[in-house]
Amino acid sequence: MLARTDLRGAALTRSTLRRALPRGGTDVNAVMHVVTPVVEAVAEHGAHAALDYTEQFDKVRPATVRVPADVIAQARASMDADVTAALEESIRRARLVHADQRRTTSVTQVVPGGTVAEKWIPVARVGLYVPGGNAVYPSSVVMNVVPAQEAGVRSLVVASPAQADFGGWPHPTILAACSLLGVDEVWAVGGAQGVALLAYGGADTDGGILDPVDLITGPGNIYVTAAKRLVRGVVGIDSEAGPTEIAILADDSADPAIVASDMVSQAEHDVLAASVLVTDSVEFADAVDAAVEQAANATKHSERVKEALAGKQSGIVLVDDLDAGVAVVDAYAAEHLEIQTCDAAAVAERITSAGAIFVGTYSPVSLGDYCAGSNHVLPTTGSAKYASGLSVQTFLRGVHVIDYDRDALAGVADHVVTLANAEDLPAHGEAVTARFGPLAPLPAPT
Ligand code: NAD
Repeated sequence: MLARTDLRGAALTRSTLRRALPRGGTDVNAVMHVVTPVVEAVAEHGAHAALDYTEQFDKVRPATVRVPADVIAQARASMDADVTAALEESIRRARLVHADQRRTTSVTQVVPGGTVAEKWIPVARVGLYVPGGNAVYPSSVVMNVVPAQEAGVRSLVVASPAQADFGGWPHPTILAACSLLGVDEVWAVGGAQGVALLAYGGADTDGGILDPVDLITGPGNIYVTAAKRLVRGVVGIDSEAGPTEIAILADDSADPAIVASDMVSQAEHDVLAASVLVTDSVEFADAVDAAVEQAANATKHSERVKEALAGKQSGIVLVDDLDAGVAVVDAYAAEHLEIQTCDAAAVAERITSAGAIFVGTYSPVSLGDYCAGSNHVLPTTGSAKYASGLSVQTFLRGVHVIDYDRDALAGVADHVVTLANAEDLPAHGEAVTARFGPLAPLPAPT
């Protein structure tokens, strides 16, 4: 069932691996002709244009963009008790991990009288996009809101698509999750129009203020991603998320049924989702293939799963040995990487590129999706080679504070003047010497 890429005996150079590995992705450019007019109209006309597009794409027009407080309170009151308890535990664990990511100011004394401090300042206002087209993702509320709050962001808004089935408001589970997290500003707008409204703001239909944000984070479909690309610069964005993916590095000590169930669970997200097994055992690959077929037929979203597993982005990669396996998964740089080998912790230590690494049989990706404490908004389509998942750091800016006294400046003035002249920017040097009087020689360094 799963396509195979046989790299046994091959020289695993960087360029070979870049070309040979199964890889999906979406062509964001293909929807720019749809998304550009949406973003331009919302930039010009604000909420009214956003609601027009909501009516067109989501088949409903909420009375206001901002969800009224009583609607949020009602959603929380009527949420299933087990879901509330599970979300509370998810929030508690995420807070533990993200609180540990907070950064403190560092102060370096470069010379006596000359210091450079690095302060970490939270972004003033952020917009957190929570998808709501094909499925409902209260877990994404947790994964976006918790790091922003732990970073100290004072003003945040959650935007999620209006739902025709719920009077035009976002899904009640999303609203209830916001309430559990203490978020009281939620906008009933999604897709490209939601992203554009976050970037440009405007007046709500009842005259309320829809303040634009400085940074937009959160996953979404291709229209959301295209809009994020268009508003980048007006606001910051976390990343352009592609379809979700799992790579599993496994040897014949792993359980084929467990590996298969993790490949199927990833494929459940989306027909474009990628599930890739990397192994040095043909017998194990055969056993996983058979188990995948069985599990894919038995699971609820069987058609979607089978399409994802049959896509060019999914498959089995055969390698000579574990060393080659490590090279392959490093080159693939999966959003989620599972290590299911002998001494999985030691193998995990060797990995240098992955969005998140799940070590051993009892750390499945599903745990990280909901309740490990880690973040599930992770870099996709190989971007884990240079990018990280969502964290407290996403919502902070590092600002250097330079504080030199007269003697400290005098001590390095000659070097500044020399370098300024070498770059043919003499006024830069003069800006230093001016501080010591136009004609006076520089004081001798102390
Ligand atoms: P979404 O909220 O991203 O998009 C829904 C919106 O798309 C709609 O409100 C509508 O306005 C717009 N839209 C739909 N069809 C359109 C069209 N033809 N033209 C213009 N606009 C249109 O929700 P979704 O569609 O369910 O996608 C969610 C995505 O987010 C999935 O790919 C899912 O896998 C991903 N996701 C990722 C993570 C993660 O952490 N990486 C978590 C949750 C979801």
